[in-house]
Amino acid sequence: MDKRDYYEVLGVSQSASQDEIKKAYRALARKLHPDVNKDDPKAAEKFKEVSEAYEVLSDSDKRAQYDRFGHQDPSQGAGFGGFGGFQGGDFGGINDIFDMFFGGGTGRTRGPQRGADLEYTLTIDFKDAAFGLKKEIEIPRTETCDTCSGSGAKPGTKVETCNTCHGSGVQEYVTNTPLGRMVNRRTCPTCQGTGKKIATPCSECRGSGVVRKRTKIEVNVPPGVDTGTRMRITGAGEAGDHGAPTGDLYIVIRVNKHDFFERNGNDVYCEIPITFVQAALGDEITVPTLYGREILRIPGGTQTGTLFYLRQKGMPKLGNGVAKGDQQVRVIVQTPTRLTDKQKGLFRELSREFGEEAHEQSRTFFERVKGAFMGE
Ligand SMILES: [Zn+2]
Ligand SMILES: [Zn+2]
Repeated sequence: MDKRDYYEVLGVSQSASQDEIKKAYRALARKLHPDVNKDDPKAAEKFKEVSEAYEVLSDSDKRAQYDRFGHQDPSQGAGFGGFGGFQGGDFGGINDIFDMFFGGGTGRTRGPQRGADLEYTLTIDFKDAAFGLKKEIEIPRTETCDTCSGSGAKPGTKVETCNTCHGSGVQEYVTNTPLGRMVNRRTCPTCQGTGKKIATPCSECRGSGVVRKRTKIEVNVPPGVDTGTRMRITGAGEAGDHGAPTGDLYIVIRVNKHDFFERNGNDVYCEIPITFVQAALGDEITVPTLYGREILRIPGGTQTGTLFYLRQKGMPKLGNGVAKGDQQVRVIVQTPTRLTDKQKGLFRELSREFGEEAHEQSRTFFERVKGAFMGE
């Protein structure tokens, strides 16, 4: 029996929040509950499917594992390691009344399954996020065995149908529960769900039809990706059981921090120090951008912290190809710290020159904030 995607079962998107998942599950559980569908034996089956999907997606660990491996239990077959970095949110556990009836994972079927999806975290530099990158990565995964073309049988020998399940891979058994008659299914214990009987196993894969390999894959990272961007490479996941479709590979991007630039959506932010004199008199300064140096005009009388924009010098918008964000440049006026006697003299002279004007500025300021001081 093919398992449906859990997100599809609940009718939610892959990025659904816990609330959305809970809501979808409640609505479906109410509709499909065996109590209200006594005449429809399929309802119980559907209800169980929905409950199982909820059990996995409502648990952050199980969901993360599902996102990574699909329906395949990673504890089976060759262990899958080396892919790190995926973290689900911190969601509460599940304690639903339905677990009383469907807990323990009984009746989970395992027919020929679609291969597991894999996830690979690719760490790239800030510049590569801006300009895109072609990179070869190496991933460990299971692939269809070349020797037997995935049949699991030694070349030249025959594959027969399993006598226990007659090829379906599933055993059905009926139980009576307080909710009514339930049809449960379990993986055929004789053939482990393959529906086939292999007399002489292939020596290369020992009958499994798949072999473990490290495979190089070229990944095309488009310009504009950010930390958390998820790219799917269809069919690059693990091989399916005995001819079932291959899973997908998900590349999750992580972008290294840059010494000078900071990202702010599609805008790129930076801070540039300027001198007292530049701030007072104005100047043209050179600003590094992702696309080379740019001249920025600072008008006279610029205050520290003023934000300037260099239009279209930010990050490319992902999937757009043309549009870009801006570069935000914040100027920080540097107060001189080590002055020579001569410089100190010049500052004093400047101060005298400001004279009344500076005094006047200070006086109006205190006028304005008068109410702010207690007892004055
Ligand atoms: Zn083989
Ligand atoms: Zn069987």
